[in-house]
Amino acid sequence: MTEASLASLEFQRRMRNDPPKTDQLRLGQAFGLIRGVPLMRLLTEYPQIGRVLLGELGINKPNAESRPRADGSAYILVWTGLLDFLEAVTRAAMTGANVTVTGQETVPAAQPPQAVDAALDAVYRQWDAQWQGKALVTAPQPLPPEAEDIARWLMKMTTFFVILHECAHAMLHAEVEPEDRTPAQELEADAWALRQALLGFGLPANRSRSVLIGAVIMIRALAALEIMKYKLPGRRASIPAACRRSRSASAWSTSPMIMPMPRSC
Ligand SMILES: [Zn+2]
Repeated sequence: MTEASLASLEFQRRMRNDPPKTDQLRLGQAFGLIRGVPLMRLLTEYPQIGRVLLGELGINKPNAESRPRADGSAYILVWTGLLDFLEAVTRAAMTGANVTVTGQETVPAAQPPQAVDAALDAVYRQWDAQWQGKALVTAPQPLPPEAEDIARWLMKMTTFFVILHECAHAMLHAEVEPEDRTPAQELEADAWALRQALLGFGLPANRSRSVLIGAVIMIRALAALEIMKYKLPGRRASIPAACRRSRSASAWSTSPMIMPMPRSC
């Protein structure tokens, strides 16, 4: 029997009110990348993670939230709309990629660059409608199997980063209401997420570049929205995506093992 905590009661209520529209695989598979010894290390360093609940909430708004509670428990909800948005961005981008698998002939991109731009534009332009609760509408282009595999992998890495970013808030900013988090705390959450992604999966599996790409996709999508003048509603302090991007890049170039905690931009 699981221990009843403040987070678990609220988590169950929220999940009952807005049950997931699909299975929970997108989140489970991403967080499941940390296992074995790296998972034990993470749990030893941050035992509170054992009291964090993770679920996909069936709401079309592109949101993710982390709610730490006074008894040390917490829950993380990633809303369907955010996963749909990231999946659409990743798949649209992959329609423009020529894919070369070692030892095989290059598989040409499914679409020319202009068509990729138009597809991405169509996704970004639904940002406000998504925040009004409308489901994202896409016209998915079929991808060659090689590109499809990569698109799925990139989506998993991006979801991994999103979960760990929210986890960072639960571990580091438990005293702060989500609406009151500062830009410095957002950067700190990015750095923590990247560090744990590298230590938990990237380095042991020799997939560090994949981990970085997951962070880059998320942050670049936010940068594109920012350029198009879209905003993240409900946040007191917003942080320029370019700042998050440069911080992530500099943390990477210093050393993945001694990632500095960021100061504000
Ligand atoms: Zn955040």
